[in-house]
Amino acid sequence: MQLYMLGQDTGYIQDETNIGFYIFPDKSCLLIDSGAGGNKAQEYLDLLQEQGLALRAILNTHAHADHCGGNAYLQEQTNCAIYASSLEAFYIQNPFMAPLTLFSAHPPLVLANRYLMPEKSCVSQVVSAGEWHYEGVCFYLIALPGHSLDQLGLLTPDGVAFIGDSLMTDTMVKQFGFVYAVNIEQMLASFQTLLQLKKDTQIIVPGHGEPFRDLSSKIQINQSLVEEITAFILEQLEEGLSRETLLERTIRHFQLPFNSSQYYLIMSTLSAFLSFLMDERMVRSRASNGQILYQRIAKTGFKIFPPVLPND
Ligand SMILES: [Zn+2]
Repeated sequence: MQLYMLGQDTGYIQDETNIGFYIFPDKSCLLIDSGAGGNKAQEYLDLLQEQGLALRAILNTHAHADHCGGNAYLQEQTNCAIYASSLEAFYIQNPFMAPLTLFSAHPPLVLANRYLMPEKSCVSQVVSAGEWHYEGVCFYLIALPGHSLDQLGLLTPDGVAFIGDSLMTDTMVKQFGFVYAVNIEQMLASFQTLLQLKKDTQIIVPGHGEPFRDLSSKIQINQSLVEEITAFILEQLEEGLSRETLLERTIRHFQLPFNSSQYYLIMSTLSAFLSFLMDERMVRSRASNGQILYQRIAKTGFKIFPPVLPND
């Protein structure tokens, strides 16, 4: 775990989840996300204190446990403020909603684990996309829904953009080769939003992996992956399949890690793809012999993916 500066006042702690920070003139700082839990959070506090920095507030990009899992500890230790978008704030303050959403009812214990359910913390104020004036500094909050319901990115005045989990790095795409999403249409729209950032942004910090500058090529890689998953699903749905059968085939085809948590996470993503394709009138569902079956309507002729222009 190490701390790096990326701009005059902006830096990040490199860890499994990247933790951003912005330093105010009085040496207090805003943290962008809080990592996976208490032990990590204490290490982040130690690192900040070594630099003479005091934690003033946390901005959470989204409510996944590896991004807001340190909130409760840091708030208890420093009484820092916490900022998040409306829907993510709801999940941060009601952490059981994450496993409940995945299970679609009161979740079994196996889903109420620290990877899916962060400790509860208190959001001081809800923020939304657009200019955010905080402590005399003008930040820009970027709406990046899709990976989660109401994800926000943050652009600092010195041109560093923290984009949560809206993009995966090339390495992650190669190693994992799948996405986590709740809304595919919004995920694609967020790629287009990120493209617009290019003129104001020097460097981009993803939630996981190395910071980068080549935004267009990263977006292209991520969109290609969404296109590849879509093509796979459409190919499978030539015959009517249940979600369970589609899930089994998807796990085998993409060689995905598999356990109880992954089952629900991948099922949730597949559901997002199915509703996207149904909204696009490419797939329909029907009830048949105690199952809901999903089937492709048309083979080709749809243009659902906007172009990503390679002009970095
Ligand atoms: Zn996430």
